Amino acid sequence: MNTQPTQAQGWGIVGHERSIDILRRTIAAQQVRHAYLFTGPPHIGKGLLAHRFAQTLLCTGNPDPLVVPTNPCNTCLACRKVMHENHPDVHTVKKAPDKQFILIEQIRGLQSDSARRTLEGRRNVFIIHNAHEMNMQAANCLLKTLEEPEPDVILLLTVPDAGLLLPTILSRVQQIPMQLLTTARIKIALEQQWEVEAEEAELIAALAAGRMGWAVEAVEKDELLDERKSQLDLLAKLPSHNKIQRFDAAQRLSADTEKVDALLDLWLLWWRDLVLASNDCLDLTVNVDMRDLLKKQAAKFGSAEAERMIRAILSTREAIEQNVNARVALEVLMLDMPKIS
Ligand SMILES: [Zn+2]
Repeated sequence: MNTQPTQAQGWGIVGHERSIDILRRTIAAQQVRHAYLFTGPPHIGKGLLAHRFAQTLLCTGNPDPLVVPTNPCNTCLACRKVMHENHPDVHTVKKAPDKQFILIEQIRGLQSDSARRTLEGRRNVFIIHNAHEMNMQAANCLLKTLEEPEPDVILLLTVPDAGLLLPTILSRVQQIPMQLLTTARIKIALEQQWEVEAEEAELIAALAAGRMGWAVEAVEKDELLDERKSQLDLLAKLPSHNKIQRFDAAQRLSADTEKVDALLDLWLLWWRDLVLASNDCLDLTVNVDMRDLLKKQAAKFGSAEAERMIRAILSTREAIEQNVNARVALEVLMLDMPKIS
């Protein structure tokens, strides 16, 4: 086994070395900025990288307490607290599940926390997940902090696309773009860094569709794959369900609005796989562990029906984005699903 330490040892993120390198260099040059913006598609690992950066900034593993290490040691008390999300100097801001936006009150809370002295570390770190979900007042309020930051405050923002933020915010942050990875790269990373068995690594890497953050989440949280299984089982059963059973399913699924998005993503991938399977491209499908079922369903529904479902799911997602009630939108989708009598 290769025991040579990699440069970014301790970050636990493979494939984003370039982004990590930018961050390590700013630490080494003692030029850590007040605000960073991590950009890239959902689940690519933006939150994970922001979190590891916070950990590195607060790590106390170096024998010289004045030196900020460029890699987290993962063993000191500060590192462990950041990892377990209970470090008092790392604050997370995100949209509440029952709200449409990140609200100004949350940004005001951030400002009063940032004016306070740090409790344990040398910095006060604020991670704002999906910063584009701030409403206009919240964004303008945050601008104040970006214009006149407290000396020890670091803001780490994540957003799928930089264009979703106000130009006045963009001009005050350093952007850290993150790219999708190949399936092979993710598989190797899972096997080598996370010690995942080959077969499971292949499945997770395929489902991750380039998103390392999703892959890591699937490894860390068993329930992610269990949930996928149960949602695909439901999808397989729906064609034989009557109207009442379908409405019932819509009601259950829409109860957790946070999960509706992931559900639609999953179903979208399924029908996309069915299009591939109907066109003799079973080997290109993402749901590698369910190819038998894909083959059967492809024979039953055919490519045109699968394409129709993809359009239906996309318009369901659009409707929810435009604030149509999730249950109503899912009910419409359920009725669109093919029937087998
Ligand atoms: Zn440490």
